[in-house]
Amino acid sequence: MPADYHSHTPLCHHAEGTPEEFVQAAIKVGLTEWGISDHAPVQPEPFDDWRMSTDDLPAYFEWIDRARAEAGGALPIRAGLECDWLPGCEPWIASLAEKYPWDYLIGSVHYLSDWDFDNPAWLEKWAQTDVDDAWLRYWKTYTEMAASGLFDILAHPDLIKKFAYKPTGDLRRFYQPAIDAIATADGAIELNTAGWHKPCKEAYPDIDFLDLAHSAGIPLVISSDAHHPDEVARDFDQAIALAKQAGYTQTLLLNQHQRSFEDL
Ligand code: ZN
Ligand code: FE
Ligand code: FE
Ligand code: ZN
Repeated sequence: MPADYHSHTPLCHHAEGTPEEFVQAAIKVGLTEWGISDHAPVQPEPFDDWRMSTDDLPAYFEWIDRARAEAGGALPIRAGLECDWLPGCEPWIASLAEKYPWDYLIGSVHYLSDWDFDNPAWLEKWAQTDVDDAWLRYWKTYTEMAASGLFDILAHPDLIKKFAYKPTGDLRRFYQPAIDAIATADGAIELNTAGWHKPCKEAYPDIDFLDLAHSAGIPLVISSDAHHPDEVARDFDQAIALAKQAGYTQTLLLNQHQRSFEDL
């Protein structure tokens, strides 16, 4: 079983479970490694209601320590953050990177300007939005995030499809600039299984994006984005099959930002 590096803690106010419960779930499913990557703080605060605050960081470090104590020698525990890519965030991301010996940072696009487009609370805005325009803005933002080179893993590549608002035709016209930027910056992506449980009913990204990513030599991790211990490694068999369909034979492992690879 590959690693699962994308997991949340109750510090973000919309996840449940103790470190002990998460670790036991990870051991039970036979993960190679398990990683914690809660929603990182954003400045200025308060920013929104679904992330830890900067003052919560010591509690987050304690949460990681408890997970490591529970795992003992049975399972390597990696530590990261899921960081939001926002205009001008680079100095803040750089300062977060120095606050702890992270194994990896995950970069995510959840906002287009002040629109938190993947939040069900903002769902109404989709009905008044031009879908092609939203997709163009999303992929431009994702491409900028990739080009920054600040992140070890780029999260849920086509999250913009979450509520099943998709342009018509071949979507590779949106993907190709992002693929080029990821490959140029030597970035890695995740195959995030949470999308199978959202209105889009597809993993993030879809097979076309995954095919392009594999052809461009972009490394892959498989992630559950668990917000509950029951979701650790959810749908990994299906995700492994999808990754293989795109040509992947290995997944990426990260330890102190250093890469290694594991056969699928
Ligand atoms: Zn979340
Ligand atoms: Fe996310
Ligand atoms: Fe997440
Ligand atoms: Zn996520």
